[in-house]
Order: sequence, then C-alpha cells, then structure tokens
Amino acid sequence: MSIKKVSCFNCKRDAFYFRKYSGEYLCKECFKKSIITKTRRTISKYKMIRYGDRVGVAVSGGKDSLSLLQVLSKLAKEHSNELYAITVDEGIANYREESISFVKEFTDNLRVPLKIVSYEDLYGFSLDEAMKERKIKLTSCTFCGVLRRRALDLAAKELKVNVLCTAHNLDDIIQSFMINLLVGEMDRIKWVDPRLEPKSEFAIRRVKPFMELYEEEISLYAYLNNIPFQSIPCPYSGEGIRGEIRRFLNSLEAKHAGAKYGILKTALKMAQNLNVEGRKQIKFCVLCGNLSSSSICQVCKMLGLVNLSPILP
Ligand SMILES: [Zn+2]
Ligand SMILES: [Zn+2]
Repeated sequence: MSIKKVSCFNCKRDAFYFRKYSGEYLCKECFKKSIITKTRRTISKYKMIRYGDRVGVAVSGGKDSLSLLQVLSKLAKEHSNELYAITVDEGIANYREESISFVKEFTDNLRVPLKIVSYEDLYGFSLDEAMKERKIKLTSCTFCGVLRRRALDLAAKELKVNVLCTAHNLDDIIQSFMINLLVGEMDRIKWVDPRLEPKSEFAIRRVKPFMELYEEEISLYAYLNNIPFQSIPCPYSGEGIRGEIRRFLNSLEAKHAGAKYGILKTALKMAQNLNVEGRKQIKFCVLCGNLSSSSICQVCKMLGLVNLSPILP
C-alpha cells in the first residue's frame, strides 16, 4: 500500500502506510519502529516483564509469534532478560511440520534456545488421533487449547522461566471477549486484565505484549521484516464461531476505524471491575495433581472425552 507524495509524520521520507485509527502517515522504517515502541509501552504500562526476568515465549511458528520473538529479542537487552522459545507440537499432520521448521531456523538465527514439547510425549497421543476418537461432538480448538496451556506450563516450569509471553494480539483478545459475551462466560472476561496475577503462587504469570496491536499491523511488520508466513492453515481452524466473529469485527473496523480498540478498552474496564474478589483458594486436581479450579482439572476432563488411554500429565 504505497501513498504517493505524502511524507512520514516522523522523518519526512515517503509515507508507506496510513494508520487509519490515529491519522498518522508512516514510512517503512518508522512503521517498524512504531511496532517495537508500542510493544515496549504495553510491557511497561502493565509491568509485564520485569528487570532480570527469565522470559518464556510461546512460539507456534505463525507470523504473530515469530514477530513477537523478534521484538522481544530486541527489547530483552534493555532489561537483562534471558529469552527461551517454547513450541508445542500438537501432532497435526501436514501442518505443524512447516511451522516447526520456521521456528528452528528463526530461533537459531536469533540465538534463542528452543524447547519443543509434543502431545504425543505428554499425553500419549497426537491431536489428529484424539480428534478421530472423540466420544462427543468436541470442538477441536477447545480441546487443543486446554492441552496446549498445560504443555506450555510444563515446559515453562522445566525452563524455570518466571513469565510466559504469548503472541495474542488485539484482534484475538476482542474475539475471545465477544465469544465469552455470547456464551455468558463472565468469569473468563476477567482474564483480559493484564494486571491480574496468576491464581496461585505456583502458577506461571502469562502476559500478552501484543495485546494492544492490531493483527493487520503485525502482519505488515512480519512482511517488512521477511518473517515467514505459514502457507497452510490449521486443518481444524474452521470449526469454531471465531471465524464469524473475526469477519464481523473486520467489517466493523473497515467502516469505523478504531472500533476494535474501543472494544478492547471496554473489555479491560469490565475485567478490572470483575477482579475485585482476589485470589481463590488453591486446589489441586485429584487425578493428576496439577493446579485446578475444581477437583478435576480441565485437562483431565478433556482427556476423558476421547476413546484413548492417555498419560496423565
Ligand atoms: Zn519515517
Ligand atoms: Zn488433572
């Protein structure tokens, strides 16, 4: 998208991008810098990463997580942070192989140590096997999301990181917010609040340094930095309501620039108002012994929904 004869707001070079929601014209270099500056601002505003933290980064190999790793590798030096990349191999044939090869090359170039954990090793089966053996109509993303969360936690503990970054962007967050609004999951809305401390002292803090960035701008950042784009979509990605919400929010934003940011602000305010009760009592799952909000954890509940004999993580 090149705009002729308009100069960059910062440096007077030719503008390359028009940031509709703020009215800024930016050249390529200033655009790239703005993504780093915005991420730095989000991190410091919510004290996401602190001086000397050992930082884990969940890297799927998609453009968002590779961009996050690149931005954090630039920022890590400022606060003496050690970075570790963690990749979860769910076992999705003809899909995960490509992204894992991107991750290996990318982390090698950035000299960030990489840990790969697989569902096969942790639970005894791949996502493909589990989806063939589902007992009830079980949404793949719900199932996979719960298992991935545990996989990341276990890897993070092993690496002794004290904060885990995920590449969720503004679009991801408001899509989840809208889904929770539709299904009445008030309790989940509070997790939008980046200041919320983990449920217990044993849980690893999770943060989303891209939470104030539009997905579209991260894609552009990835493109300008030659970050690889995965060519194959996840074969399970069409199963949820998320796609419909995503299209709806994109059309809203196209007509009303800044609408998505407005929804994020509302979600944050709602989350902060919901977070008044403080920490709940810590519980542990009776089956696997991991932290849980009820007597049986989400992972064990999910593992019970497939006709396979799982390993309890
Ligand atoms: Zn410029
Ligand atoms: Zn359990």
